[in-house]
Amino acid sequence: MVGAGPVGSQLAKRFSNKDVDVLVIERSESIGEPLACSGHVSPDIRDFLSDDEFEEILQNGINGADFHLNGKYRFFRDEKVSYVIDRIELDKKKALQAQNSGAEIALGENVESVEEKEDRVVVDTDSASYEAKMVAGCDGASSKVRDETGLPEPDHFYQGVLCFTDEEDSSDFVDVTLDVPSFFGWRIPRGDSVEYGAAVPKGENPMEWLDSIAEQV
Ligand SMILES: Cc1cc2nc3c(=O)[nH]c(=O)nc-3n(C[C@H](O)[C@H](O)[C@H](O)COP(=O)(O)OP(=O)(O)OC[C@H]3O[C@@H](n4cnc5c(N)ncnc54)[C@H](O)[C@@H]3O)c2cc1C
Repeated sequence: MVGAGPVGSQLAKRFSNKDVDVLVIERSESIGEPLACSGHVSPDIRDFLSDDEFEEILQNGINGADFHLNGKYRFFRDEKVSYVIDRIELDKKKALQAQNSGAEIALGENVESVEEKEDRVVVDTDSASYEAKMVAGCDGASSKVRDETGLPEPDHFYQGVLCFTDEEDSSDFVDVTLDVPSFFGWRIPRGDSVEYGAAVPKGENPMEWLDSIAEQV
């Protein structure tokens, strides 16, 4: 497995539970870091964690959203439609689940090449070489495994920026700003802080949008 994000760790756990020997190779020295996700997730996150694990990473519950697009449009339900979680802790908990199921995790190793042979695959990192029956590319949007094995790239790439203020806010709705098709931004109350973020097509500068998000919400 290349990548100890939520996908890599979930897959590692599932294979390990079927008595397959699994090695997860992760380039970061510290699982989940650097942070590159808002952790605003749908309720089915609960299917992937125990109740205790979920409570430990929960920061806020969300009932709705204000969408800003030539005016403000409110969507609101009387039940939780999503949750705000600590994404770094999610990755750590999922990795621990994988390890407890028997998977091994090699931290601080960057996969540099993947070579498919007749009967095996050879994965070289910046510090070691591994052979396995198969490799799973769980290495995110800019996947090295995808590139090395000749799989096609997605049609569109977005890049984002996140920033945090120390406002205390546990309100139960998020703000979403839209300028279709090229941009969306958000404000997420996280309890002891508020996150502002923006995502734009690769090559554009998301920082330029942050002021306009703060003005709109
Ligand atoms: C700014 C931003 C905000 C987002 N907010 C949300 C949100 O609120 N809610 C939501 O559901 N989704 C959000 N997403 C999307 C979400 O982050 C991804 O869908 C999710 O992280 C994908 O999980 P993954 O396990 O496939 O990959 P990742 O989480 O990207 O994990 C890939 C892992 O592979 C490792 N890796 C990469 N290359 C190598 C290599 N060559 N060798 C070894 N290891 C490698 C990385 O270090 C990383 O740990 C956001 C994304 C961005 C960029």
